[in-house]
Amino acid sequence: MSTPVKLPKTLQEAVSFFSDPQKTFDYAVSLRWPTGKVTCPRCESTEHSFISTRRLWYCKGCKKQFTVKVGTIFEDSALGMDKWMIAVWMIVNCKNGISSYEIARALGITQKSAWFMMHRVRLAMHNKDFVKLGGPGSEVEVDETFIGGAARFMHSERRKRVITERGVKDKMAVIGILERGGKVHANVIPTRRKHHLQGEIRAHVAAKSAIYTDALMSYQGLNPDFAHKTIDHAERYVEGQIHTNGLENFWCLLKRGLKGTYIAVEPFHLFRYVDEQVFRYNNRATKDHFIGDGDRFQIAMSHIANRRITYEQLTGKGTDAVHQA
Ligand SMILES: [Zn+2]
Repeated sequence: MSTPVKLPKTLQEAVSFFSDPQKTFDYAVSLRWPTGKVTCPRCESTEHSFISTRRLWYCKGCKKQFTVKVGTIFEDSALGMDKWMIAVWMIVNCKNGISSYEIARALGITQKSAWFMMHRVRLAMHNKDFVKLGGPGSEVEVDETFIGGAARFMHSERRKRVITERGVKDKMAVIGILERGGKVHANVIPTRRKHHLQGEIRAHVAAKSAIYTDALMSYQGLNPDFAHKTIDHAERYVEGQIHTNGLENFWCLLKRGLKGTYIAVEPFHLFRYVDEQVFRYNNRATKDHFIGDGDRFQIAMSHIANRRITYEQLTGKGTDAVHQA
């Protein structure tokens, strides 16, 4: 790890790079412990011995073994790191999303394994350290959309259960907040009522930003904390600077992915797909800032630690979920 390694820039280079177990291991270690100091993920002890033949450590603190996977999205997975790396690469770089069927075929694993894998990767794509968008002098678009009919694709028994137990409606509302020339934030919200919409806005937009929305009543009362202006979509879509066309573009990407690829997203999982699209959007290449596939992969991989999710957490209580998409 002392000599800088040439990291892959294309899928082809990635496949070749990660087919080398030692290179893959060194790479994973450098991400897991960026300072180079290996610490036990259970007790944080730095006293351990490395068993090189098995690529694992024996911790002298808690007297247990640990691998590079412990405490990351890869924990407890029987799938090799070579497959994980390529899965991450494909998910973060496919603009319109990719289905678990395609991942399964590409990696030679079951669709169920691919489905679980993808949800873990989406966890790494979720932005935990959010900085508020906007600020004085910046323009922020806010809009909502409905992602509809997801429940239609479920078996009637499951649909009944999901809907009654989780109180989910057939259509789910999603709010989008976009700083022009900057990043987007999007989240599934329970309703389009004032407290839900404005709660998201106040949590994610810096005071004094200019905010542009449609004429929905729920947005009333943002002034004077913000410089809020509305465009009545019943009359027109653009009035000078006042429009939400930037978000329209984002909704288009999100819906294209959901319709074309994720044919049966359960309402319960919708936020994960939203996170995935937000990640790709916020890490896209622009004319001022080049970001390549290898960079996007690196960014996602730097979030692998402390994001563990179990099968039970992912599927709710039971394990009989329909794992489509
Ligand atoms: Zn330990």
